[in-house]
Amino acid sequence: MDYLVDIKDVSFNLDEYLNIDQLIRYPAFSSHTSELYHMVITEALKFSQKTLAPLNTSGDREGCKLEQGVVKIPHGFKEAYIDFAKNGFIGMDVPQTYGGQGLPVTITLAANEFIMGANYAFEMYPGLTRGAAHLIETFGSETLAKLFCEKMYLGQWSGTMCLTEPDAGSDVGNLRTQAKPLPDGTYAISGNKIFISAGDHDITENIIHLVLARVEGDQKGTKGISLFAVPKIWVNDDGSLGANNDVMCLGIEYKLGIKGSATCSLNFGEKGLCRGFLVGERSQGMKHMFKMMNEARIFVGLQGLAVSAASYQHALKYAGERSQFGKTLLQFPDVRRNLMICKSLTEGMRGLLYKVALIADVAKNETDPITKERAQNRIDLLTPICKAYCSDFGFRITEIVLQIFGGYGYTSEYPAEQYLRDVKISSIYEGTNGIQALDLVGRKLTKNGGQLFREFYEDVETSLQKIEKEKQLVEAAQKLRKGINTLGQVAMKFGEWGMNGNWDSPQFYATPFLEMCGHVVLSHVLLEQALLCIPKQNSEFHQNKIQTALFFCNEFLPLVSARAESIMQTNSKNKEVL
Ligand SMILES: Cc1cc2nc3c(=O)[nH]c(=O)nc-3n(C[C@H](O)[C@H](O)[C@H](O)COP(=O)(O)OP(=O)(O)OC[C@H]3O[C@@H](n4cnc5c(N)ncnc54)[C@H](O)[C@@H]3O)c2cc1C
Repeated sequence: MDYLVDIKDVSFNLDEYLNIDQLIRYPAFSSHTSELYHMVITEALKFSQKTLAPLNTSGDREGCKLEQGVVKIPHGFKEAYIDFAKNGFIGMDVPQTYGGQGLPVTITLAANEFIMGANYAFEMYPGLTRGAAHLIETFGSETLAKLFCEKMYLGQWSGTMCLTEPDAGSDVGNLRTQAKPLPDGTYAISGNKIFISAGDHDITENIIHLVLARVEGDQKGTKGISLFAVPKIWVNDDGSLGANNDVMCLGIEYKLGIKGSATCSLNFGEKGLCRGFLVGERSQGMKHMFKMMNEARIFVGLQGLAVSAASYQHALKYAGERSQFGKTLLQFPDVRRNLMICKSLTEGMRGLLYKVALIADVAKNETDPITKERAQNRIDLLTPICKAYCSDFGFRITEIVLQIFGGYGYTSEYPAEQYLRDVKISSIYEGTNGIQALDLVGRKLTKNGGQLFREFYEDVETSLQKIEKEKQLVEAAQKLRKGINTLGQVAMKFGEWGMNGNWDSPQFYATPFLEMCGHVVLSHVLLEQALLCIPKQNSEFHQNKIQTALFFCNEFLPLVSARAESIMQTNSKNKEVL
């Protein structure tokens, strides 16, 4: 399957909207140049198109198999992984201490749009490895970091994240996996984990599982959970490999999409011989894991964008080639509207995610405490929106795309159906989208007396004052102002319900509220971009950006008021029907 991407829009985001060269002002990036950033992006695109995309359909058809206790992954994945690691793509944004590249998050995110869009299932293997190694590097001792991280970033060993158990999905605090202190300072681990991505395979000589477990006697619930690094094959103090560490793959899931990614049930310590190293502080495992998960959630939103943007490009191409009634599909207004929905959503999501990545670079590198705090507040507020909105609307785009392909879209002759199947998981894992909505309404809206939302409101207002000076944008700007004010009113209503002890209603409406926020946030980003395009209207690309922003605001902002109406006029009785 070809990987198609709107490279002009990617470049517009990096160079014109975000001006990535500004990052070079930070000491961590002082040796970087604009040429380096463009070279990394170009190499990632080349690798994605030449090496990863050709394995996307075959990986889906072949899937993973468990044969005599060994997980077999699709042909070509192992070789691609070795090349991927050689190119330094695993630890792109992590410090260089243990083999990372020390690149900005913004560049890493843009490169990952190509990687994920070209082969989502493949990306799970390096993605999980990077996450696991980064957890060890951030919270583990120096000894542990030295033992594991370099080998993981350089592709010799891989990694997983093991949270989920049969009775502990969203409710991670209910986990049963146990850890027992041993005299040598390690822990005996025993328990079952399910749905573990990249849980077992023969790509690398060892797999380091990052496992959440409870040390015997520690508190129930999330507060008593600790984090452990559990190698599939034991690692001696000198880094050499020891004996098998009693980690067994009991089975793999046969599932809707990302079939090339092995989703495994793992048994730790069936023979009583599994050992792990404590990572970070005892009983702080959830805190450590959540810090990483918050970063990872932006990248899950990116999975939603990457796959749906690739599927939209295929639909656009197909609509220009397929004729019915003597016209191409592209000439039919209904098809054009559907394509415009896909185009405006993908450009809005790309703008949002790339911008949040830049804010993450600011939050990490800024020395001014006020700027740093404000950047972190913005990330905190936008993380659940990036994750849930981009994965939900990513899925909707792939559904529209399949429709544009008609009957051919339903068959596996074209890639539309695989994109749809693949992208769905991004709304489920890394905290379901329902849980993201609760995080937005329960934590982010209420944090510091509503400071996060207030700061966002101020920034939108500041940019609106510039946007509404442009005649072409004034109407859309007014719609955006109405949209953000409506969000404020609904947030106040949630607060009022809460004060009266009615916590049920804000939870009932958390998901539509997140969707409303997404419409407003994307409109803001697209109008900021449109404003930049006003003086460049002699280019067709910039003209189209303005029209796309206006289309999105007209299509999606009215939905904010409509949703608000249904929330405000709710009647508690109709919620009690089930
Ligand atoms: C392909 C795949 C890969 C995965 N990879 C990994 C991995 O690498 N590591 C790992 O640890 N896990 C992984 N998972 C597991 C995944 O993170 C869980 O499936 C997810 O967290 C949801 O848990 P659950 O399936 O038990 O659903 P449940 O928790 O049972 O949720 C079911 C539904 O109820 C809703 N719900 C639950 N609680 C609440 C609440 N309090 N309020 C409102 N709604 C609620 C949810 O939103 C959801 O819609 C993977 C899963 C899949 C399918």
